[in-house]
Amino acid sequence: MTAVSGSSDLQRIKEEIIFGMKVLRGEGVLEQNMGHLSYRLDDGNICMIGHLHDKAKTFDEMGPEDMVVIDPDGKLVEGTLNPVGERVIHTAVLAARPDVRSVIHAHPKTSMLFGITGQPILPVYMNATIFAPSVPILDYAAQIDTPELGRQVAETLGNNYALLLRGHGTVSVGADIREAVVVAVMLEAAADLQWRASVLGTPRPVRMDELDGRNVKGTKHAHNVANQWAFYSQKY
Ligand SMILES: [Zn+2]
Repeated sequence: MTAVSGSSDLQRIKEEIIFGMKVLRGEGVLEQNMGHLSYRLDDGNICMIGHLHDKAKTFDEMGPEDMVVIDPDGKLVEGTLNPVGERVIHTAVLAARPDVRSVIHAHPKTSMLFGITGQPILPVYMNATIFAPSVPILDYAAQIDTPELGRQVAETLGNNYALLLRGHGTVSVGADIREAVVVAVMLEAAADLQWRASVLGTPRPVRMDELDGRNVKGTKHAHNVANQWAFYSQKY
């Protein structure tokens, strides 16, 4: 994974979370007013969006004042909003994955088709080979709102970059906010391409002999992340 973000300057992190969520909305990953992106601070606490619905606020209206800081058990440390119920997805994945500092939970439509039908999202295009051999599916469609369900999410995710929650949504991860955002967009792009390809014929995933680890030969995931983030920085 790419390098970990350096300083835990909270204001800068809150702004990067808001920017990351703006990218995720623009790229069709965050649907309506739902979903969240978190970041693990240097002290182990977690910064993420609070329960905006309490204020009847939309993502378009959110600002740094709507962020909360929770401890690794999900208890509120700082902020005026309540933490979201599904924070257990973030606390459990961050506890299980020292290599991960940013987690995204979203409900993007095309990825969800694969969770609903139980069909694996395959590495069908070169940027998506990080998902090889396939994206695991947690066979549970209800809210993830208890520590035990959070642990099941983390366990099913394992060492992968992403996970599908059947009938519910997705979880994707990165070593920093930008990687988690790019991975979340890549997941939906992979699902979208595979779905469209399956209309024309049988999708053919990238073959093992075309891979170098989790990258297709001749490419580097870290370069793809940097490249795509630079593009989003211009676009949004
Ligand atoms: Zn959800």
